[in-house]
Amino acid sequence: MPDLLPGAEGFPRTAVLSPSVHRVLGLNPSAFTGPGTNTYLVGMHGPGPLLIDTGSGLDAYTALLRGYLRETQAPPLTRILLTHVHPDHIGGAGDVRGIFPNLPVHKFPWPGKDERYNVPLQAVRDGERFQGPGYTLRAVHTPGHARDHICYYYEEERALFTGDVILGVGTTVIPRDGGDLGDYLATLERLLALDLKRIYPGHGPVIEDGPAKVREYLAHRLERERQILHELRHGPRTIMEMVAEIYREYPKHLHNAAGESVLSHLDKLVKEGRVLNQGGAPARYTLAA
Ligand SMILES: [Zn+2]
Repeated sequence: MPDLLPGAEGFPRTAVLSPSVHRVLGLNPSAFTGPGTNTYLVGMHGPGPLLIDTGSGLDAYTALLRGYLRETQAPPLTRILLTHVHPDHIGGAGDVRGIFPNLPVHKFPWPGKDERYNVPLQAVRDGERFQGPGYTLRAVHTPGHARDHICYYYEEERALFTGDVILGVGTTVIPRDGGDLGDYLATLERLLALDLKRIYPGHGPVIEDGPAKVREYLAHRLERERQILHELRHGPRTIMEMVAEIYREYPKHLHNAAGESVLSHLDKLVKEGRVLNQGGAPARYTLAA
């Protein structure tokens, strides 16, 4: 019997995705996390597996992980790799270190954010390799969703652990705090340059055709930008005026989230000098002359 999480649309709590890669669910389903955060055990075919991401810090997750490692007779974990500082990815790091005291935890530094989790962190550098028995993971700095975001490229499988950069369910948010759409688009271009097959996303199911999904994400953002510029060609507009046009087909309760997305595009276009913020409350935007 597959072990299913109620309320997460039958998404299994644990799954064997390849001889090396197993998935343990963070058990934190929500509107923002889909079926919950995926945490990945890598190197399960050998004597020194590691863990990518740790869920949000629920006791149920720690118990699930501990039980799964026991059930599979897995050797002790050798380290934790984190994709970024958002609480649904780093939140369980301290608890996992409760099972494996002194387990090294690696992430790309974000001073001012990292400290609040009270976990000793080792700084990941772009391009750094983490090697274990039967696997090599290379850190790829991928800002845009969060400035500290790292994807991990699994060389032997030509697979990528994408955290929140590419998702198996839902859309990636570009938060104003530490997000940047221009950086995000450059990140997607960078991912296209990888020799890539599978994507193991931070939320939702495995994506078998990684490059197709990355191209889909790029095309979606470029189409949105084209629509915004089209709206502004008719004169100055507020964000919600543009949302009312561009998201006409979408239910009203999604319009605030859509506004955030439009804002991330406007921030980029203003930074590029293509659009001006005329101010006002709410602010009106116009095409630069
Ligand atoms: Zn995130």
